[in-house]
Amino acid sequence: MAQRPYIVGNWKMHGTRAMLSEARAIDRAAQRHMKVEVAIAPPFTLIHPVHREAEQIGVGAQDCHHEAEGAFTGDISAAMIADAGAKFVILGHSERREAHGETDALVRAKAETALAAGLRIILCCGESAKTRDSGKAVAFVRKQLKASLPEPDQAFEDASERITVAYEPIWAIGSGNAATIADIVEMHAAIRALLIDLYGEEQGSEVRILYGGSVKPENASEILTAPEVGGALVGGASLTADSFMGIALAAAVETEDS
Ligand code: PEP
Repeated sequence: MAQRPYIVGNWKMHGTRAMLSEARAIDRAAQRHMKVEVAIAPPFTLIHPVHREAEQIGVGAQDCHHEAEGAFTGDISAAMIADAGAKFVILGHSERREAHGETDALVRAKAETALAAGLRIILCCGESAKTRDSGKAVAFVRKQLKASLPEPDQAFEDASERITVAYEPIWAIGSGNAATIADIVEMHAAIRALLIDLYGEEQGSEVRILYGGSVKPENASEILTAPEVGGALVGGASLTADSFMGIALAAAVETEDS
């Protein structure tokens, strides 16, 4: 891994204030592994409490609205999550694409609004089991990502700092079965080529590409050392400091070895 590895926990709809003790434990452990960038995206309600206590880890959100403000009952804007302490937002997660009908165009609009609000983004992509079985996974993900990422002319000069892509095959999420290393390598290479096409060599080659889908301490090392894997987006295994930091430790060991 040439870049500083980025290990991000997506807490999804888990966590009340009782979970703050896990966030504190993650933060303390992250202070021992400064070569790894560790972050969590708790539910909206915990962004500010985690931000207030965290000394080392980044704090982000799991979604935001595509408009800057307005009459959108129950929604949360990019500026609001930034005000609460979020530095980044996860966008286009397959659970939002599926359960909330989020299209590529909507995800792109959210990405552009979030960047304009000063946030970094983690843009998710990934194919279903049916698409993988049909042999069209790479073509699908390329198309999905191309239509979801901010337009090149909307992307800022520091795109590589502010945009992260997460490849998350839908069938691997929460299943206990991560994609094979060969499949991860093939997809990450295709994503890298697309990023260079879109943003040019200088920016496109530096955007971090995370893998997500059943990453756990036991498989983290193998996944994190695969070519073009810049870190991991972690769901279930990010809910306890022990398992999440087991993954961060695997990243730290690889960084020290390289
Ligand atoms: C996710 O949903 O972003 C995810 C990667 O989940 P899990 O690690 O539980 O597969």
